[in-house]
Formats: sequence, structure tokens, C-alpha cells
Amino acid sequence: MHVPRDSYNIIGAGVFGASTALHLIRKYPRARIRLFDRQPFPSTLAASWDLNKVIRTDYAELRYMELAMEALKAWKSDPLFKEFYHEDGIFWISDTDLTGRIVENYKRLGVDEGYALLSIDEAKRAYKGVFEDADYTGVMEVLANKNSGWAEAEEVMEKTIQAAVDSGVEYVVADIVSLHIVDRSVCCGVRSSNGRCYGAEHTVLCTGAGTTKLLANTAPEWDELQVGNRLLAAAICTGQVKLNADDNRQLSNTPVCCQDVLPGRGGGLPPTSNQELKFWVDIPFRNTVKLDDGRMISSPKYKQQPSQAMKDELDSVKFAIYGEKGRHLTLESYRICWDAVTPDEDFIISPHPHCKELFIATAGSFHGWKFMPILGKYIVKMMESELEPELEKAWAWDREYTGEPADMWPRREMGDLV
Ligand SMILES: Cc1cc2nc3c(=O)[nH]c(=O)nc-3n(C[C@H](O)[C@H](O)[C@H](O)COP(=O)(O)OP(=O)(O)OC[C@H]3O[C@@H](n4cnc5c(N)ncnc54)[C@H](O)[C@@H]3O)c2cc1C
Repeated sequence: MHVPRDSYNIIGAGVFGASTALHLIRKYPRARIRLFDRQPFPSTLAASWDLNKVIRTDYAELRYMELAMEALKAWKSDPLFKEFYHEDGIFWISDTDLTGRIVENYKRLGVDEGYALLSIDEAKRAYKGVFEDADYTGVMEVLANKNSGWAEAEEVMEKTIQAAVDSGVEYVVADIVSLHIVDRSVCCGVRSSNGRCYGAEHTVLCTGAGTTKLLANTAPEWDELQVGNRLLAAAICTGQVKLNADDNRQLSNTPVCCQDVLPGRGGGLPPTSNQELKFWVDIPFRNTVKLDDGRMISSPKYKQQPSQAMKDELDSVKFAIYGEKGRHLTLESYRICWDAVTPDEDFIISPHPHCKELFIATAGSFHGWKFMPILGKYIVKMMESELEPELEKAWAWDREYTGEPADMWPRREMGDLV
């Protein structure tokens, strides 16, 4: 396999791959950088492809709050991103200590403007009473934060990848079936389903929910290469409502709503310019399958229509946000969306410890999209052994997991939702 000098293969054109391609080409304009995906961009198979995504800095973990604040600056100022960012605010209805922990983090970082903890009465009156009938069971206070909002996801993906291509990145539509690893030691390229080989000095897997399968296909008998329990392909459902003019007027200028209270755990975004209202369910599921070698993995099932049970869960979210007032809003355009999730919801941005020149950068764990403007910067740092020690530890391929897996680690099978 021919391996050109200063060459990079980035597999997967979601936010992790696209951002890596852009940051790499900006740093090394003469390098040969290929960005692969199974589809032309923006790839509709990606978790990153969507109507819209929430941009927030509210995090119970300080390091993600700081990173999200760095990303938010870019959302507000970078010409590539700012036209797609809408600062409509966010409204957190949580029956846990989450909102209090977020506020504590802001205080530690010296941020004291734009957010407030509201009593339930105040929450019901906020935004002209749009959340008056929400489910506040067990909720003590609601966090309202104006320094947040959402972005137009498909447009951002398209524009970012186009910017990378305009700067010299080659976008290749190919299904990568295996990595070319010499002597179980160095990765020097990839092979596609039509038998073509693409050599490169460095290979970065940004393959999201497809990561487990790609490594398993590459060398099924080589245990140290495999993903193991580090990440899992997991899915959540979204559904959209096409609003009439009246409803659109009522709901415009309202914030993103994150609803934590079961059974309606999920959220909703404000209407887009096309009068579309999106909801999501925050109770993920996996799809366990048996590989030829007997290994059990969770594998994404793309283009599957949601079952009635999944649609019912989306209706519960809608009800938990708008109550009776939203009863007439009819959900349509459903989607099952697959992401890679880790037990601690930290990303994996790490060299593969058992294979030189192979890097893993993925596992957005249902919250990675907002970091799009800055992900590539950290991924390039990782590849050059310049990552801050704290991040290096948190995002390592090999790290310790203690306690129960986090909320977005799936505890049920797709087949349970019939
Ligand atoms: C419904 C939903 C809503 C979300 N909402 C938010 C939100 O509001 N805010 C937020 O911050 N985060 C959100 N997230 C999380 C965020 O979208 C993901 O964490 C992030 O997009 C993952 O990016 P990625 O690049 O790792 O993977 P992906 O975007 O899935 O991209 C991986 C790409 O790799 C390609 N690929 C895989 N295997 C191969 C192969 N063998 N050959 C070629 N190509 C391959 C796939 O086709 C795909 O395009 C949400 C996730 C979901 C599912």
C-alpha cells in the first residue's frame, strides 16, 4: 500500500471527523487529507445530521462547561458558524440536583449573568406561560439560561465540510470495511467495500456508532484492538411537528426545553424558520447482534421507522413540556438516530494504545455536537501528544469506570420497544 507523506485518513464525516478535517487542513495546508463517509456530505446516517441541535454551556461537569463556553464563543463570532446559531435560551425542568450543580459551576467560573433559578410559579409564568402545563413533579426549581440556544445542524455540517474541501481536503464517498494494519503494529491505510486501498501515515476513526464494527471487521481475533465495553452504539428517537401559523406565532421566541421528569424525559426545540418543532426522547436503547465470531455488539439499524412505542414516548415528552395545550400538535417525520456512547459520557479522543498511527475520536454520547467548532482543535492536539493532561485522562481509550453507567448508557434493547 502506497503511503504518501504528511497524509491523513479521517473515517466518518460527522462533527468529530468534519471538525478534525478543518482544523488539520488549516494547520497543515499542504498535507494530503482525506475525509471518508458512506454518503456524500452531509451524511444523513450521521448522528450529526439533524434538523437542529441544542447549544448549551450548562453542564454538571466543570470541564465540559468550560469547553462548551469556548465553543459558544465560536458559535457567536466565527463567520463559519454564527449565522446558524440562534440564542433563544434554555429552560431546564429537572427533579434532580442537576440545575443546582450547574449554577454552582457557573459561580466557580465567575459567570453570574444570563441565568436564574425560578420557582415553579415563576417558571409557569415565564415566556408568556408557554410551559405552564409542563410536568413539574418533584421539581424544586427551574433553571432558565439565556446564554444558550440551538443551531441549524444540516447547514452547519454542509458548510463546515465544504470549507474543509475548499481548503484542500478530499471528500471520498466510500464504505470503509477494514483498516490496513501491518504486523499488528502500525495502521497505514484503509480498505473500502469496493476493494480500493487508501494509504495514509495517520488514520483517525470518527466513525461514531460504526466504530465497534469497523474494528471487529479489521481483525476479529485480535482482542486488544477491539472496542470491548468502552463504547456502545445507542439510539434515541426524534419527531417533528409542522406548525400552523398560529401555533408558530405562539411558540416563537421560546427557549429550548430540557425535561428530565419521567415518563416524558427528553426535550423540545423552538420552531425553525420553516415552522418545524422538534422533540427528542432521552431514554436510549441499543441493538445487540451476534457477529460471525460469536461476539455480541450493539449495531446501528439505519433507516428503520420508529415503532408505535417509540412514537408514544415522543408524545409523552411533548405532553411533559406543553401539557394539554400541546395535545393538538401532531408529530410526524420521525427518526431513530444512532450515536456512540461511553459509560461515563466522556468522549474518546485518544491514540489507540495497541496500534501506532491509529487514533480514535468519537463517542459524542448524545452531547457532542455543540463542540463542533473546537473538537478538531483538541483532536489534533491529541494526535500530537499536546492534549492537556486532564483531558488526556478523561478521553483516554483505556480509563477506569467506577460506579453505575451514566443516564445515556442504554439499559434496554430496541426490540423491547415494539
Ligand atoms: C437525536 C440526537 C440528538 C442529539 N442532540 C444533540 C444536541 O442537541 N446537542 C449536542 O451537543 N449533541 C446532540 N447529540 C449528540 C451528537 O449529535 C453526537 O454526539 C455527535 O453528532 C456524534 O458525532 P460523531 O462524529 O462521533 O458521529 P456521527 O455524526 O454519527 O458521524 C459518524 C460518521 O461516520 C460514518 N461512518 C461510520 N462507519 C463508517 C465506515 N465504516 N465507513 C465510512 N463511513 C463510516 C457514518 O456514516 C457517519 O456519517 C444528539 C444525538 C442524537 C442521536
